[in-house]
Amino acid sequence: MSHILNPPARIGLIGLGNMGRPMGACLVRAGFAVTGFDVSEGARTVFAKDSGASIAADMAAAVRDADVVITMVPDGKIVRALVESLQRDLQAGTVIIDMSSSEPMGTRDLGAKMIAAGFEFIDAPVSGGVRRAVDGSLSIMAGGDTATLDRAGPVLSAMGRTIFRTGPLGSGHAMKALNNYVSGAGLIAACEAINAGAAFGIDPGLMVDVLNASTGRNNSTEVKMKQFILSQSWGSGFSIGLMAKDIRTAGDLAEKLGVAAPLAEHCADLWDEAVARIGGACDHTEVQRFLEMYGNDDG
Ligand code: NAD
Repeated sequence: MSHILNPPARIGLIGLGNMGRPMGACLVRAGFAVTGFDVSEGARTVFAKDSGASIAADMAAAVRDADVVITMVPDGKIVRALVESLQRDLQAGTVIIDMSSSEPMGTRDLGAKMIAAGFEFIDAPVSGGVRRAVDGSLSIMAGGDTATLDRAGPVLSAMGRTIFRTGPLGSGHAMKALNNYVSGAGLIAACEAINAGAAFGIDPGLMVDVLNASTGRNNSTEVKMKQFILSQSWGSGFSIGLMAKDIRTAGDLAEKLGVAAPLAEHCADLWDEAVARIGGACDHTEVQRFLEMYGNDDG
């Protein structure tokens, strides 16, 4: 079982949400035999219609004959519960790829357990959002054994343009959480600056243009501020609950490692407060609405 997983290898894809659906569609286009499963019947139906992939009515049926199982669910706790429950349904040697943004210490533990049980396991979370999931140009940060990463190469390449090997098991998830900390802190900084500038009388759209031509430019000023925030469309497809989870993961990781990261702690608290205030299902760009309300009342 050490062959490279080229199309038409069989892939069981668990999690057909905002990211899983377009990522699965890329796998289908690349010629993989994809069977999808999601606890939401609506998500299963939309995925089958949009991608032409097969769907399974239960999770075991999605993974039983699979060469590869991909998980793209909200967090590592869900991944652990579902992977452990599927153990007896998987073929020996199946490559499990957790592409969710999971907690890295948990991934180390779960991955080691699965490898000891006769499976292969790598973590390969993604960045780039729904837009880049749709066109297969995600940035992928992959951790795990080199031979397994080699085997999984064609699968990852079908969904991503840049595939970084970050080191051993769990390192992809550590990198992803840290990336989202930098991204989430940058988004809050940009929102605060726009709010202060607007209060001073500077046009917000003009401010974004200035930032993007200056040293304050970041991913949020480039692809979120006008598109989702100033337009008030709030349509990035990445929920505020998932963003808050990632930033807390980054802060906790630094703490566990004994690395000082005071801004990460504060940033995680702010994002958690935003979730408590406006609800985790809101788009993460709606943190702008939370910041506008911040300090205005006790509610
Ligand atoms: P989502 O909430 O849109 O989708 C998650 C899907 O998982 C849902 O359809 C849900 O029904 C399903 N699910 C939950 N528990 C399940 C279970 N036990 N079995 C089967 N299906 C289950 O989330 P998303 O935006 O697609 O994000 C998925 C992961 O990717 C998260 O870890 C997130 O942090 C990460 N991520 C998201 C983005 C983005 O822009 N949306 C970008 C990069 C990474």
